Amino acid sequence: MRHCLAIVLCIGLLAPAAFALPGDDLILVGAKIYRSPEEAPIENGSILIHDGAIQALGPTGSFRIPPGATRLDCSHLTVTAGFWNSHVHILTPALLHAKQSSAAELNTELDNMFNRWGFTTVFDISSILDNTLALRRRIESGELSGPRILTTGEPVWTIEPVYVRTFLLENHLRIPDTTKPDEAIALVRDHFEKGANGIKLFTGSYQGGDKVANLPLAVAKAAVTEARKHSMPVFAHPQNLTGVNVAIDSGVNVLAHTVPQSPPWTPEFCERLKQAHLALIPTLTLFDFEARNLKPAERESWVAQMVSELRAYTQAGGEILFGTDIGYTDRYDTRLEFTLMSRAGMSYRQILASLTTNPAQRFTGKSGRIDIDQPADLTVLSADPSEDPTAFSQVRYTILAGKLIFRAP
Ligand SMILES: [Zn+2]
Repeated sequence: MRHCLAIVLCIGLLAPAAFALPGDDLILVGAKIYRSPEEAPIENGSILIHDGAIQALGPTGSFRIPPGATRLDCSHLTVTAGFWNSHVHILTPALLHAKQSSAAELNTELDNMFNRWGFTTVFDISSILDNTLALRRRIESGELSGPRILTTGEPVWTIEPVYVRTFLLENHLRIPDTTKPDEAIALVRDHFEKGANGIKLFTGSYQGGDKVANLPLAVAKAAVTEARKHSMPVFAHPQNLTGVNVAIDSGVNVLAHTVPQSPPWTPEFCERLKQAHLALIPTLTLFDFEARNLKPAERESWVAQMVSELRAYTQAGGEILFGTDIGYTDRYDTRLEFTLMSRAGMSYRQILASLTTNPAQRFTGKSGRIDIDQPADLTVLSADPSEDPTAFSQVRYTILAGKLIFRAP
C-alpha cells in the first residue's frame, strides 16, 4: 500500500470556533431525538442543559423551561449523542506546534477537522505525545474550542512505516524504534505517567513493495500486558495477516483499519476476531484516498475489498468503531465514510452505534446514550439518518458539555 502524508489542508473562511451563550441554561426544542441506536426516537422532543449536563429531556412541553434559558430551535433537526472519531492523528502542520501556535490558527483547524463534523470526542492514535497533551490542555482550559481528546501518543513500531519517513524528517520529529519487550514496557509506562489514554502498536509496518515489518509477538505481548495494568486500550495497525495474528495473540483491543494485505474474511476468520473481543475501525475513506492515483477500476476493487471485510465483520456481529484516519489524510469530510459503511450493509442504527455507544462503552465505560445527568455532548443534524446515512455528515450544531463548539453558517 502506498501512502504519502497529506499536507493539504482545508482552505476555508475563518469561522469563530466558539459561541458564547448568555445564561447557564440551554434548551433544544422541537427535535427528533435518538437517545441511543436501539430506542425509538422521540419525535418533537426537547433537551434542557444546565451547567453543561443534561437536566431534563422528553417530548416538548413535558417539563418546565426555566426563565432565561437560551432557546435553540431544533424543529426539523435530529439530535444524537455526540459523535466519536476513534481514529485520528493530531499531526497536521496546523496542529503540530500546539504550544506556540495562535488560538485562532488552532481553532480554525479544530473546526475544519472535528467540530464541523459533529465530533465531541476523538481518539488520536499516533502523534507526538507532548504536543497533543499541550493541545488538550488549551482546549480543556477553555482557550480553544475542540473535542475531548484521548491519545496514544507515539506508537510502538520496530521501524517506522515508509510512508511517514519523509514527514518525520521534514518536521524534525523522531519516534524511536521498539524492538525489545523491555523497551515496549518502558514506553507504555512513560506514556501512562504523562497522561496518554491508550497504546498503538504497528503489528505490521509497511516497508514498500510486499515488505511488512511485523512486530515480534513477545514485544506486542509485553506492551499489552503493561497497558492492561493501567487500563489502557491497545490499538493495532495490522497491515497484513501476520499483523492481525500478532494482534489476536497478544490481546490487542482494536484493529485500527480493515486489512489491505489479507485473504477474504471468512465467517471462521471473523469468529476468531470476535472471540478475541477485537473492535474494528474500517477507515474506508483512507483506502479510497490511498487508491486515488490508480485506474478507476482498480480503485473500485481496492475499496470494494475493504467494504467486504467490514461487511463480513458486521454480519458476524463484530463491534465497529467509526474512524477515518484524518490528520494522516486531509479527507475531513465524513460523507464518503457513511456511504461506504452503508454499502457494507450497516444500518443507520449500527452506524450510530459506531459513532456513540460502542466507543463510549469500550473506552470510558459510559453508556454513550443521551441521558439525564450526563455531560451534554450532542450532535445536531439537519437531516434524519434513518432516511439517508449521509445525514450523519450534515451537522448543524456540535455541542460539547453544553457549549456550542460549532454552528453551521
Ligand atoms: Zn492512522
